[in-house]
Parts: sequence; structure tokens; C-alpha cells
Amino acid sequence: MVRSKAQEVRGIMVSIDSRLQEVKQRMAQAALKAGRDAQSVTLVAVSKTFDAAAVRAAHGAGQRAFGENYVQEAVAKIDALVDLRPQLEWHFIGPLQSNKTRVVAEAFDWVHTVDRLKIAQRLADQRPAWLAPLQLCLQVNISGQASKSGLLPSEVPAIAQAVAALPPERVVLRGLMAIPEPAPDFDAQRQPHRALRELLQALKAQGLALDTLSMGMSADLEAAVQEGATLVRVGSAIFGAR
Ligand SMILES: *Cc1c(COP(=O)(O)O)cnc(C)c1O
Repeated sequence: MVRSKAQEVRGIMVSIDSRLQEVKQRMAQAALKAGRDAQSVTLVAVSKTFDAAAVRAAHGAGQRAFGENYVQEAVAKIDALVDLRPQLEWHFIGPLQSNKTRVVAEAFDWVHTVDRLKIAQRLADQRPAWLAPLQLCLQVNISGQASKSGLLPSEVPAIAQAVAALPPERVVLRGLMAIPEPAPDFDAQRQPHRALRELLQALKAQGLALDTLSMGMSADLEAAVQEGATLVRVGSAIFGAR
């Protein structure tokens, strides 16, 4: 059977809608199991490599927060969806080079991947005054993988203090983010997520007003919610394989 473009788009919308509901169900069940309020966990739908039509379909199914990894791709998508801009929240979750900070400071609402003080300083300098402050997380290399980006846990307290001292009308430090190594089962998945939660608690004990743990993806969101995730970043379970 030859499907028309309209049928194809409709098909994509139906599957994104049902996958979104499945992911929300997983989050709600994990919250219930952890004795947490389901409302305390927000879903960031990771739309990298998927086009603006996919984001529009997810928005049509009630999704508001979207995560992107690649600056050029993201900016094109944000522009293509400018009619929805006030209803969308864009989260930058990819590696961020200092020559790309201006574009990110102008286009996004959140940046999860601050891994150097210099990046946060540039974002603060470049955040347009007419926009709400950019919401920041520090990325932590919680599994200690040599190849992975992110701050070492031991580096985090000093940088967190410095980022928290940047002008609050431009940037606000909200918490920590990690991309743990894939682990085979629930208990193994919990360990790095627990370590990130404990690091956040240590920062709070030092007087920082933080409320965000960005952790959990398609494969490990239950373990992340169990350990206190407040933002889960889910891509393939919503949009399909990349
Ligand atoms: C791609 C990506 C995700 C989503 O991963 P899935 O396994 O597709 O859910 C989450 N966080 C970051 C930082 C990513 O790059």
C-alpha cells in the first residue's frame, strides 16, 4: 500500500503520542515505587536527529520540554518552530565549545552541560538581558570514564560556588547532570545516579540553593527516578532509534 505524505505524518504523530504516554507511565510507576510525587519528575524529550515535524507531533501530544545536542541542528529546529516558542522549553544537552556559547545563550532556556567555569561565564555575558535567566546544570563525569566529558566530582564544589556567584539575572545554577555508563541491571544503574544525588546533597549542605538532578535516559530512567532525578532526558523511547 502506498501511503500519502499526510498518512505518513499522521502515523508518526500517533506513534510519538503512544510512546510518550508509555514513557510517562514508566516515570509515574518509578516515582510511585520510590515514594515520590510523579509531578516532581519532568520529562525532557530528546529530539536530536529528529526533525521539527517530530517535535511538533510531540508538542501536539502535550510535551513541552525538548533536549538538543548539536547547536546548528537545534537552532534550525527552534527557528522552524518559532510559532510554538512561548510554549516550548529548549534544553541544550550536548558538548558545548566556547565558540558556540553565544548561539546557545540566545536560543535556549536551559544548558545541562556546563563543564568549565569559562563556559558559564560566557553564557552569563552573552545571555540577552530581555530573556529570562538561563538555567544551568554542571555536567559531572560520575562514572569516572576517561573518555567522557564532565567535571570530576572533586572539581564540582569550587566550580559550583563560582557559577552560583554569576549574575542571577543572566544565569542560575540549578543542579547537576550526568550521563552514566550503561549498566546491565537496575541495581548497577542506581549506583552512579546515587553518587550524583549525594554530590548534590553535599553542595546543598554547603549552602547552595539547588533543586535539579538531570539524569536518566531511555534505558535507565527507572533507576534515575529511584535515586531522585528531577529531569529525565529520553530520546529513543519516544522518537525511535537514531
Ligand atoms: C541522546 C541523549 C539522551 C537520550 O538518550 P536515549 O537513550 O535516546 O534516551 C539523553 N541525554 C543526552 C546527553 C543525550 O546525548
